[in-house]
Amino acid sequence: MSSLDDLTAAAPDLRAQLDVFLGHHTDELIGFRRDLHRNPELGWTEHRTTAKIVEALEAAGLSPRVLPKGTGVICDIGPEGGPTVALRADIDALPLPDEKDVEYASAVPGVSHACGHDVHTTVVLGAGLFLAAQAAEGLLPGRVRLLFQPAEENPGGALDILAAGGLVGVDRVFALHCEPKFEVGQLGVRTGPITAACDKVYVKVTGPGGHTARPHLTADLVYALAKIVTELPAALSRRVDPRSSLSLVWGRMNAGSVANAIPDQGLAEGTVRCLDDEAWHRAPELMKALLQSVAGAYEVEASLEYVRGVPPTVNDHASVQMFRDAGETVLGAGNVVAAPQSLGGDDFGYMLENIPGAYGRLGVRTPGTSEYDLHRGDFDVDESSIPVGVRILAATALTALCEVPSGTAETEIQL
Ligand SMILES: [Zn+2]
Ligand SMILES: [Zn+2]
Repeated sequence: MSSLDDLTAAAPDLRAQLDVFLGHHTDELIGFRRDLHRNPELGWTEHRTTAKIVEALEAAGLSPRVLPKGTGVICDIGPEGGPTVALRADIDALPLPDEKDVEYASAVPGVSHACGHDVHTTVVLGAGLFLAAQAAEGLLPGRVRLLFQPAEENPGGALDILAAGGLVGVDRVFALHCEPKFEVGQLGVRTGPITAACDKVYVKVTGPGGHTARPHLTADLVYALAKIVTELPAALSRRVDPRSSLSLVWGRMNAGSVANAIPDQGLAEGTVRCLDDEAWHRAPELMKALLQSVAGAYEVEASLEYVRGVPPTVNDHASVQMFRDAGETVLGAGNVVAAPQSLGGDDFGYMLENIPGAYGRLGVRTPGTSEYDLHRGDFDVDESSIPVGVRILAATALTALCEVPSGTAETEIQL
């Protein structure tokens, strides 16, 4: 039998072991989530959250390591030398007031866990505690690394994990994000891009200015700016593979103050969204070159400020299959559903630029209720999604460990 067949044969045992573990620990995990929910912390200030994670891991006999900036935690479970699979949670909250009337509502004015990162932290912790118990009985066929990253919303906390060597020696990494569109008990999966890159661009155009009677003696700046605003998206669409879905959309432009004077400066601001990692990396240089060629034709000076957001999160096919297999084992086949492509961003994309892995959607909506949305002050989850998330991540880690040949991780991590 292959190791995956072993896992399939062991599925009833795994389900029973998860039932026993969650029978003992679900209330405690829900209490842990509520405590984080009541005490949310913004990116790179998650000191209390970090201390709570460390306390829970140490109580289970594990040896967590706090990241150098003081927030975020890495913790290894199980023997070294074999395959290694990582489970990632983000731990930060949002600068949004909590509008819910519940006993665990945020006690911090203007800050709330409106993106569900308290749930992500809790399910990775719960899966870690279950896997630690498996490891203690010699049932873990490799190593699992828990990654609790700070500052996803800022964004960029994922880079702290990379800088601390969090992905060194890791074969695959998995993450779950709350999805209020899906009912609790469902897992959403998708191969390829699942979240998008979103960058901001600021174009500034300058010229000598002058009378509108004599555009030939100066540089017609408004005309040139209009050409830039229309030509750049058009040229990009012909220079970049359309499958990358790279799109430049302007949100603001501004030039001039009176009908008969050519102004000496103008601005255009917009966003670049993209689903393909390679196109995302090329975008700034390409835009700069296109901007210079259009501006040059009209003899205006143009500069580009390109502000990076996060890369797209591109799920690896084999890792998605592991999510699917694990989800079907613990939730039942009909509960693994197709997740749509989102144009939102998640800095988990930085991790998937380095090693294969997948980002899945954890259903958090109570069946029959209307939808909450993420990033709203009234966002909440059905807490029975917590044991569901623990089941999915624990089973996914075991599935992945059984499929990764040992000693294959020789990743060169790029920052
Ligand atoms: Zn968010
Ligand atoms: Zn989020």
